[in-house]
Amino acid sequence: MKIQQEISNRILKQHCLGCKVAIVVNILWGVFNYFIIEENKWVYVGINFAAATIIALAIMNRERLKLNGEVLGMIPMLTTLTAFAYTYNTVDLEVFQKMTYTHAAVFIGAGMFLLWHIKYSILASIYAIIINLAFYMLFCTISVNDYLINGGILIGTVAIFMIVSIQVRYKLVLSEITSQKALEESRLELKASEEQHRLLFEKNPTPMLICSLETLQILAVNDLVISKYGYSREEFMKMTITDLHKKIDYSDVILHTKEISADDNISEWVHVLKDSSEIDVELIAKSIKYDERPARLVSINDVTEVNKYQDQLIASKQEAEKSKELQGQFLSNMSHEIRTPMNGIMGITRILQKSNLNKEQHHFLNAIIKSSENLMVIINDVLDFSKIEAGKVVIENERFDLEDALDVVQEILVVKAEEKGIYLTVAKDEKVPRFISGDSVRLNQILINLVGNAIKFTEKGGVSIKVHALHSDEDRIKLRFDIRDTGIGIPSDKIDSIFQSFTQASSSTTRTHGGTGLGLTISKQLIEMQNGILAIESEESKGSTFSFDLEFDTAVQTEKSENELRVVARSNDKILGDLNGIDILLVEDHPINQMLAIKVLEDWGFNVDLAENGLIAVEMVGQKAYDLILMDISMPEMDGYEATREIRSGKHCENSDLPIVAMTASALIGENQKCYKAGMNDYITKPFDPQNLLEKIYNQVSSKLKTA
Ligand code: ADP
Repeated sequence: MKIQQEISNRILKQHCLGCKVAIVVNILWGVFNYFIIEENKWVYVGINFAAATIIALAIMNRERLKLNGEVLGMIPMLTTLTAFAYTYNTVDLEVFQKMTYTHAAVFIGAGMFLLWHIKYSILASIYAIIINLAFYMLFCTISVNDYLINGGILIGTVAIFMIVSIQVRYKLVLSEITSQKALEESRLELKASEEQHRLLFEKNPTPMLICSLETLQILAVNDLVISKYGYSREEFMKMTITDLHKKIDYSDVILHTKEISADDNISEWVHVLKDSSEIDVELIAKSIKYDERPARLVSINDVTEVNKYQDQLIASKQEAEKSKELQGQFLSNMSHEIRTPMNGIMGITRILQKSNLNKEQHHFLNAIIKSSENLMVIINDVLDFSKIEAGKVVIENERFDLEDALDVVQEILVVKAEEKGIYLTVAKDEKVPRFISGDSVRLNQILINLVGNAIKFTEKGGVSIKVHALHSDEDRIKLRFDIRDTGIGIPSDKIDSIFQSFTQASSSTTRTHGGTGLGLTISKQLIEMQNGILAIESEESKGSTFSFDLEFDTAVQTEKSENELRVVARSNDKILGDLNGIDILLVEDHPINQMLAIKVLEDWGFNVDLAENGLIAVEMVGQKAYDLILMDISMPEMDGYEATREIRSGKHCENSDLPIVAMTASALIGENQKCYKAGMNDYITKPFDPQNLLEKIYNQVSSKLKTA
């Protein structure tokens, strides 16, 4: 409807123009007639002028007469046609036939130009035919043939041209108006969306600015940037983004820039606000077009608080690490400090046990030994636990004899089982190979812990250890270890908590059974470090089963392996016979430990020389050929590692490869590795078990004695 109205208005406007053209054409035509026609020339001129006047009156009064565009278009056409037809039909002139065509052309042009509407154009055509016919009847001076040829064809052509042109013009106007309308609408939409974008930018809850890509000149800032930085919008427009950066020596400020893509990046800066205070910011820049020019949309993240927290976090983490290290150091020192006197207590008690004592005195000494052993277990657990917590445990992978390892566990614990009158059995299925590669020390530790617990918490029945092969491929085997007991069991609500450090199922446990509540935690962690899982099934007063799976490398089962029999248990008499009169250098700074070791060694019939520190030991080795050195680790002047390295260097003596056994109060996991690295052959911890020491000495010296 709106478009129809618009078209009508346009037609009206154009027809007014058309009317004016028709007025001029009629006046000119009248003047032309005045000069061409001789007879009654004023009639012809008058008719033309009358037509011009009618047209002029029609335009001037079109509003009062309510003439629409179409009707107004018809008036000049019809008046001009009438004037033309009158002249054409009344004047019998050859010349006029030519004039007719000229006038007709003007008429066609004017008609095409003026008329838009099909209804009016058909009416106009009918009017043209009737008026022509009427004038022919009235004044005809030419033949009907001439009339039809000159007039009929002319009028017909006019009608066709008019109809076609009307339609074409109508469509053209319509499409012009529609596209103009669409353009207008999209312009309005664009304006609205631009406004929306501007609002989105200005009211955005993130501080944002836009700067030129080339000059870094700030082109726009949003409200938050203004309130944050304190500069006005006008002040910002005079700045570049680098004016906001703190002027610093970049070498000592960590600024990082991370490229997200070729055009976008994230960077960190220190920005200075108008009031000179500083903030840490993270700028996220994206390439955009702003006013048709390359620019960057920069969003500003204030990371001052985050950085502050991060710094605090790093500082407290460092502090925690430091205190953990101190704690480790403290535990290591404490262990050393406790072990040294414990060596004296246990060693001397053992010596005392051998002297002439009455039954009661024996009983008391046994109690001292038992208490000392319990204390040692606790110290060892605490140390292992702190080592594992500090992540300093390394899992070894060495070939070992599994049968042997299981026997050792049984040998150590069977005494306790027998004391309680319960059984302890070990069974291994046939598919389990004898020699495997893995960490035998840790396996031993886990088994001793779990089997030790099982014995501790069982009063009737006993404990069984079973080993199965779960599955194996060419070079790996997975073994399941089950430790089943018929003891007190664990209440189901306590099962989860017993794996926590320093936790026991019942608060009375320490009183009745001793222990620290660390054994299971250590075992579990050692198993998990080897990618295994410790599982537990337990029923109160029926018993518990602790199971774990561990994977091992399958060591080559050579004949030699089979022949590698366990150390044949030799009688001490045989050993002592073989070792009689060997020369041992004892390197030890602690007077009680000196006394103890000398007593033990001399009782075995060995010749013992004493060096009070590493430096003296190195000297003494140069003077006498010893069969073996027992080397303390921490000593004044020169420690055991250093002394070993000196001796091994060969600068001081000929037999620089003589066996050296470390004898240390430091029992931290990994300590043995340190000793081997320094060049020692074996390692024994203080307080030492005399039998163990004797075997170690025999292992080191016997081969030499045989070859000698
Ligand atoms: P500890 O034995 O030094 O107390 P553990 O970590 O080895 O510490 O064990 C934690 C607790 O788990 C024990 O105090 C005991 O309550 C419970 N527990 C462990 N093994 C058994 C078992 N075989 N039977 C019954 N209770 C057990």
